Amino acid sequence: MSIQDEMKEFAQDHAIPVMMDEGQSFLISKIKENRCMSFLEIGTAIAKTSILVASLSDEMRVVTIERNPDMIEQAKLNIEKAGFQNQITLIEGDALEIENPEGFFDCIFIDAAKAQYTRFFDKYCSLLSKNGIIITDNMEFHGLVKHPENTKNRNTRQLVLKIAKYHDYLESLSDFETEFYSIGDGIALTRRKS
Ligand code: SAH
Ligand code: MG
Repeated sequence: MSIQDEMKEFAQDHAIPVMMDEGQSFLISKIKENRCMSFLEIGTAIAKTSILVASLSDEMRVVTIERNPDMIEQAKLNIEKAGFQNQITLIEGDALEIENPEGFFDCIFIDAAKAQYTRFFDKYCSLLSKNGIIITDNMEFHGLVKHPENTKNRNTRQLVLKIAKYHDYLESLSDFETEFYSIGDGIALTRRKS
């Protein structure tokens, strides 16, 4: 079994919300299309996506941030097993509290606590390189962002409301433009206006 398949199985067994296959293919195609050589990920989980991105090229620099100690442990194991210790820097901590990492990134991938998307965007958009892209996952959240009436759960409702607000926020920005894709769990692709 490939390491990607192993991680997929582990994620399924442990209910870890890794990116859906369809969304991940989209992310990879955009990274290639835009010739991104550096990748910043907010929310590592078990490092499934960061390992896949690092494997695209020896030159790819990956920085990924995770706060959950169990995930950090598993991510470290996987990064080592895949042999990407030199290419992937795992920052342990809350992405909203840590000092911003050094340098600029061609692709910033927002995939951590969905209620905080706007705050992640605000904190990290200044690290985007000139022609870089920001990709946000779970913009549709199982279809509930368009149809919040389909959940009775109060917390879930709050969450999808916040994702909807982030959607509007992205559309309101004067210096960025965003395209929304109904792929995987819903993906936003943002870049600076030229
Ligand atoms: N990007 C991963 C999946 C991430 S799941 C992939 O594609 O496989 C979301 C992860 O974000 C969880 O592991 C969660 O612990 C982490 N997370 C949530 N809020 C965070 C925060 N504020 N700072 C750092 N990590 C966070
Ligand atoms: Mg996700």
